[in-house]
Amino acid sequence: MSKKKPARTADPASTLWSERLHYFEDRRDAIVQTIREFVEIESPSDNKAAGDRMGAFLAGIFEALGGRAHFHRTADFADNLQIDFPGHDDAKPVLLLGHFDTVYPLGTLANMPCRLADGRLHGPGVLDMKSGIALMLFAIEALQTWHKGLPRPATVFLVSDEEVGSSSSRKITEALARESAGVLVLEPAAGLRGAVKTARKGVGDYTLTVKGVAAHAGLDPGKGHSAILELARQITAVSKFNNLKQGLTLNPGVIRGGTRTNVVAAEAVVEIDVRIKQAKQAAALDRKMRSLKPFDKHCKLTIEGGINRMPMERTAGVAALYRKAQTIADHIAWKLDEAAVGGGSDGNFTAGIGIPTLDGLGGVGEGAHAVHENILISELPRRALLLAGMIETMS
Ligand SMILES: [Zn+2]
Repeated sequence: MSKKKPARTADPASTLWSERLHYFEDRRDAIVQTIREFVEIESPSDNKAAGDRMGAFLAGIFEALGGRAHFHRTADFADNLQIDFPGHDDAKPVLLLGHFDTVYPLGTLANMPCRLADGRLHGPGVLDMKSGIALMLFAIEALQTWHKGLPRPATVFLVSDEEVGSSSSRKITEALARESAGVLVLEPAAGLRGAVKTARKGVGDYTLTVKGVAAHAGLDPGKGHSAILELARQITAVSKFNNLKQGLTLNPGVIRGGTRTNVVAAEAVVEIDVRIKQAKQAAALDRKMRSLKPFDKHCKLTIEGGINRMPMERTAGVAALYRKAQTIADHIAWKLDEAAVGGGSDGNFTAGIGIPTLDGLGGVGEGAHAVHENILISELPRRALLLAGMIETMS
């Protein structure tokens, strides 16, 4: 149950909103049950058959609420799922954005079952972001109940490949965003205080490959040009591009190279994760990466990659959506915070093309992508209320 102070009864708006909160509190167990059903259908990004099972299940559930489901077929990932809901007026639809893929390989449930403990629901993908999908469902159902149909059209778009870069869904996400009044992203909230996300860093990756000259380490050491040695120097050079103050970071997270200890390495590779705070940092960083020169002239460098998701910057449109969210939260005496985070989501794409976007409207919990991934059950009712209110008041 909510531990919040009861709203002031003298204020009619507050009374309405606390009644609405009760509506969702009465449905809390049903929301949990729905999330559990979603979690118990495993849907790793890299397994099309499993993802398609999840997609089909979701399509059925949203269609039962009166939505019109449409699959965007893709060969490499599960089909992306769009569900359109008509509204009372023909204003531009609100885009509710999420993903049904998870980072967990098939079979994870055996060791990491979906379970209730200490007021939390645990399981693979429960926070990122199957609870977010359930919130969409219950918010739409509530609005239909309160208004005898949605007050405005809504499009739900659930992608199958967000955790692996959204290559199959990105264009569709951007096209739907352009047709929408604004985008609400049901990714997890920031931290246990449940802040919504008004800024996200841009994300990219680079692969730097060094080709050296192999030689026998004992017989011909002078003839070799070690790709590993060159790579080590390049990593040091690249790490100087870091600028924490400006929110630009690089992490050489994976290295590979060499064949055996008695051979001067012919090849070595580093994979670098890159985060940027502002779109304008992308080009400058890319120039720096591509102008890296070998220290050892006999080695050759190849640079691949780039920024995949531009930053979601806190534009005026984003700030305006946050203020709407705050106003709704105020009605139930909830102080809703905002946060800027380092991780990217598909919200980066929609904000990147200038469409007002509010992210982090989904579940509140801990351990996304980790064995202890969980959500706080007590937070579900007011998250559903916030989403319903946002759909209603979006202009
Ligand atoms: Zn996610």
